[in-house]
Amino acid sequence: MSIPEVNLVFDEPVQRKKVPKHLADYSPQERREVAKTLGLPAFRATQVATHYFSHLADDPQTWTDIPAEMRQSIADQLTPKLIELVRSVTCDDGMTRKDLWKLHDGTLVESVLMRYTDRVTVCISSQAGCGMGCPFCATGQAGLTRNLSAGEITEQIVAAARACANGELPGGPTRLSNIVFMGMGEPLANYNAVVRTLHNIIDPAPDGLGISARSVTVSTVGLVNGIEKLTEEGLSVTLAVSLHTPDDELRDTLVPINSRWKIKEVLAAADAYEKKTGRRYSIEYALIRDINDQSWRSDLLGRLLKNRNAHVNLIPLNPTPGSKWTASRREDEAEFVRILEGYGVPVTVRDTRGREIDGACGQLAAAEKTRTD
Ligand code: SAH
Ligand code: SF4
Repeated sequence: MSIPEVNLVFDEPVQRKKVPKHLADYSPQERREVAKTLGLPAFRATQVATHYFSHLADDPQTWTDIPAEMRQSIADQLTPKLIELVRSVTCDDGMTRKDLWKLHDGTLVESVLMRYTDRVTVCISSQAGCGMGCPFCATGQAGLTRNLSAGEITEQIVAAARACANGELPGGPTRLSNIVFMGMGEPLANYNAVVRTLHNIIDPAPDGLGISARSVTVSTVGLVNGIEKLTEEGLSVTLAVSLHTPDDELRDTLVPINSRWKIKEVLAAADAYEKKTGRRYSIEYALIRDINDQSWRSDLLGRLLKNRNAHVNLIPLNPTPGSKWTASRREDEAEFVRILEGYGVPVTVRDTRGREIDGACGQLAAAEKTRTD
């Protein structure tokens, strides 16, 4: 298996066509500077940020603290529409909704909104496609199209917050509570845009959505340089590491980037993150029948994690079209859990929300691409 091209230069745009600039691309200070370059007083940037993040108001005609004749042009310059809904599909009685978005250059990405009794989570994309080439993943099979800008990532989150506030999900109006970077793409391969987005999520009004860092999960395939950099940011977001097997031999094939950073190095970086932030991290493990679900692997994983502050999420494999792999047998999954618990390792089997709408990982965008090709 060939090693995927990894974009190790942080934020080096990959095939980036000029994405229109959006206030979500900038820090609060920069937004004020940008307003000035547009010939506006700096406070206009703060007003627009308030409408965008706090009021979730996308119709500039409702921005009554800005003179009527200026509203549209300010909106066009500071909050251009970066994502356009192509279609939505729902399941679980409407409690799960997957949105397919078209970006300004026609690129397709998707996000999934899931309402639970105690929370609403949105799963967002950080890249169009992914260059990491994990063979079980629909996004990986399509390769990387390009990085998303912070604006394009933030727009998915703000759209989700708006859908919650507007009562678009059954159960009435609610608040978006959790954000997971588990849609398309490898977030740490688009580092700067992702960190800017994390600030947009966490910063209190008027600069951001004011959602707690602990409610945000950044899932990575294990880019050690990215984990180390994120550790230095001092943001207490939850880190999830997609491990999928405790041995390097199999991981080299399931997660090709493992030939660059071995399991030991990935876990050491996650441990350092945990030490700095005090946040327990997650180990993501897609259970694949007869590939990585043997009891000896659970035993090895248990030994690897028993003295670490980590929680294992087991994800029944969602088979991608044409894949020879499938989810583990029930009894093998149960045995895998039992062995891990024997080591005192906290473990959860993830629910399979959105399975019938290809809720995981690039499957809707892949289907749309096939339809339009
Ligand atoms: N690139 C990041 C985040 C996006 S993928 C990462 O790999 O962590 C989000 C999660 O979905 C990862 O844990 C990934 O391994 C998992 N995943 C990908 N394809 C899957 C599939 N077909 N079935 C189950 N989980 C899958
Ligand atoms: Fe990329 Fe994650 Fe899919 Fe691997 S599992 S190809 S890193 S999106």
